[in-house]
Amino acid sequence: MADKYDVVVIGSGPAGYVAAIKAAQLGFKTACVEQWLDDKDKVQLGGTCLNVGCIPSKALLDSSYKFAEARDSLAVHGISVKDAQINVPAMLARKDKIIQQLTGGIAGLFKHNGVTAISGKGKVLVGAKVEVTDHKGTIQLLEAGNVIIAAGSLPVNIPPAPIDNEYIIDSTGALTLAEVPRRLGVIGAGVIGLELGSVWRRLGSEVVMLEALDEFLPMIDVQIAKEAGNIFRKQGLDIRLGARVTRAVVHNGSVQVTYSSADGEHSESFDRLIVAVGRRPNSQGLFASDSGVTLDERGFIYVNDNCETEAPHVYAVGDIVRGPMLAHKGSEEGIMVVERIAGKQAQLNYDCIPSVIYTHPEIAAVGKTEQELKADGVEYKTGVFPFAASGRALAANDPDGMVKLIVDAETDRILGCHVVGASAADLVQQVVIAMEFGSSAEDLALTVFSHPTLSEAVHEAALAVDGHAIHIANRKKR
Ligand SMILES: Cc1cc2nc3c(=O)[nH]c(=O)nc-3n(C[C@H](O)[C@H](O)[C@H](O)COP(=O)(O)OP(=O)(O)OC[C@H]3O[C@@H](n4cnc5c(N)ncnc54)[C@H](O)[C@@H]3O)c2cc1C
Repeated sequence: MADKYDVVVIGSGPAGYVAAIKAAQLGFKTACVEQWLDDKDKVQLGGTCLNVGCIPSKALLDSSYKFAEARDSLAVHGISVKDAQINVPAMLARKDKIIQQLTGGIAGLFKHNGVTAISGKGKVLVGAKVEVTDHKGTIQLLEAGNVIIAAGSLPVNIPPAPIDNEYIIDSTGALTLAEVPRRLGVIGAGVIGLELGSVWRRLGSEVVMLEALDEFLPMIDVQIAKEAGNIFRKQGLDIRLGARVTRAVVHNGSVQVTYSSADGEHSESFDRLIVAVGRRPNSQGLFASDSGVTLDERGFIYVNDNCETEAPHVYAVGDIVRGPMLAHKGSEEGIMVVERIAGKQAQLNYDCIPSVIYTHPEIAAVGKTEQELKADGVEYKTGVFPFAASGRALAANDPDGMVKLIVDAETDRILGCHVVGASAADLVQQVVIAMEFGSSAEDLALTVFSHPTLSEAVHEAALAVDGHAIHIANRKKR
């Protein structure tokens, strides 16, 4: 006989586990099905984000940043650190401990809220039923009032560079390298490539990034991307644009990579090669052919703005549906869906989802870029404030980058904010709140910001929109 639940969630990443906890909080009998096993064949919660994504990458970014700072940047403060050393196994052990703490924390939250964690691979059947097959092959049937699919995404593999998990690795492999490669190749200079390339560059690798596109970070505001590219190159990341990898073979303990660019064919030899060319929806084998769930042409589950699939009472959230592949986007979709199941009128404002690249300095953004507004024919104004003019950035020896605010030329309403600089993620978050409240640049300009903080750069950028910044020379009005 089938076990009955009000809500069955498939996948326990940030989209799934948040949805499951919220559902239980709203009084629904909830189960969360997860196929990931730990090394003792017990269910491992947390998905990509906690196990091989956001959290481990940030743990390594923070460790490597502290090491690089001790080695390269403390002398300016009058601090001398002689012969700074990095112990890679200790760094990886710290990362693993954080993963265990957080994934164990989700198990605790499930228990506390009464969510049943079910170990196995879930498959959606017609009529909002879920078939679960555990790692021993035992099949269990769940009858669900509502199904939320949150099965996430997987790294994209490319035929010229097949992953062997030793020399040619994906983002997961790049989080577990046991020693610092002397020469590291990275295919893809996007978010994940830049973060992982930065980790190993800081620890001493010579890093070459091969990016097929001619433009660096095309999804980022063009002025910010240009500034970021200059900063990263100064840090020693060798970013080669328009470089299409055609072959990667392992030979005598190194990876021989061939790539073509505008000036012909090139080859390079690396100790390790990271393939970081994006992620794809994990939607194969997830539902029976008569389930009613459909996919779009790229394999994402087709959903409307409310994350409803074409099958009644079946929803999909997170990386497996359209939109940015970001943990917080998936979590908020999960909350929205559960609230709608509970009869509330919840909606997600897709125009206000911040995104961050956790390099140093960070790159963060919300809303429209200048190039998008130009393409849409929208009249806009910008206000820019460089951190080189911020007392706090100078005090912290972190003067690289800028805050850029983009506003509607007529209404002054904020349309976007783009930051490259220290704590960019936290600064953009302030503008996300402002945008959610429909603020204008003038609203921000009239707000009091503490001195001395990096936040003042947001204030000054808002003032700069109308040429009223205090701590820089304003553009002359024509
Ligand atoms: C290196 C790296 C760094 C990242 N850094 C960030 C960051 O800093 N910030 C950010 O916002 N995002 C980051 N991301 C992206 C982020 O990890 C994803 O957007 C997020 O994990 C998506 O959440 P999800 O719940 O949709 O899917 P996932 O986290 O992928 O979880 C899906 C879960 O479903 C399970 N599953 C799949 N199929 C089934 C099935 N049939 N039955 C049962 N279980 C199943 C999987 O085992 C998995 O546990 C990063 C990603 C990577 C790879």
